[in-house]
Amino acid sequence: SDDLLEVRGLTVEYVAEGGSVRACDDVSFTVRRGEILGVAGESGSGKSTLITALTRLERPPAVTTAGQILFRPHGVAEPIDLVPLTEKQLRKHRWRDLAIVMQSAMNALNPVLRLGAQFTDVLRHHDRGLGRAGAERRTEELLSLVGLTAAQARSYPHELSGGTRQRATIALALACGADLVVMDEPTTAVDVVMQRQILANVLRLRDELGFAVVLVTHDLSLLVELADRIAIMYAGKIVEVGTAHDIYHRPSHPYTAGLRASFPPLHAPVERLHGIPGTPPDLRRLPSGCAFHPRCPKRFEPCDSVVPRLSAVGDQEVACHLHSHDRSEVVDA
Ligand code: SF4
Ligand code: MG
Repeated sequence: SDDLLEVRGLTVEYVAEGGSVRACDDVSFTVRRGEILGVAGESGSGKSTLITALTRLERPPAVTTAGQILFRPHGVAEPIDLVPLTEKQLRKHRWRDLAIVMQSAMNALNPVLRLGAQFTDVLRHHDRGLGRAGAERRTEELLSLVGLTAAQARSYPHELSGGTRQRATIALALACGADLVVMDEPTTAVDVVMQRQILANVLRLRDELGFAVVLVTHDLSLLVELADRIAIMYAGKIVEVGTAHDIYHRPSHPYTAGLRASFPPLHAPVERLHGIPGTPPDLRRLPSGCAFHPRCPKRFEPCDSVVPRLSAVGDQEVACHLHSHDRSEVVDA
């Protein structure tokens, strides 16, 4: 199979006194080798919860209560389910197979090593045949891809700005030879021009090195340019998955269509979503049936009573009664 990652039924709950809330509800999707999968949705849709669970970085009160994360890094015959692994077992895969760039970059960088030294260490650890001179040359290349200078390479992390550290972390994640790079709003601390340069270089390196990327961002126009496929999340569920082209030109789910209408022209800054009236639901009091129904311009009879399931519609997958193949499911309710 070409699937590098297969997530099945992943459910993450926030356990609280008054009961628990499902921030990620029965989420299933795949990531192919070398693919860039974008994840989009309003804030509170469960994007960040999904990413932290995917990388096994969730901490109480967030708990993964169901599902599998089947991962097939290079050189491994059988897929590994990441969900039951211990922290020690996970450490063997972090960075080597699975690199993570979160919104706050500091924790990925070693505070007592100069930036350049961290890169040469990681590169030589990954490629035992690489000599010091080769590793230094490669470090310089990688840092220049994210716009960092030789002087910055000689600095310690605390001497650099948040944006600069973030750029270094992205370069480090791409350099370490992982099969999968997971990024949550990786360029929030970076200015727009630099964002474009970094993301163009992510594409270039992906073509060169063949890693896959799961990229979460609120910047939909950026995802349309960068991602191969896009998953749209609403109220903790994936409501549509399709190619970036289809999501942009032929959205099937009314929520995706609303987001699409809110897309600013490409290259313009995102201001706010004006394509969809209302606000995302409170996860503690989810609307019945389709969670989107109070905001949906297309809602009809079954929508407030039957939960639509994600199912294939052409090359896309959509969770919406407008696209339900199995009408009996609707009638039964
Ligand atoms: Fe709208 Fe109904 Fe589709 Fe939900 S299931 S998105 S309410 S049409
Ligand atoms: Mg977030």
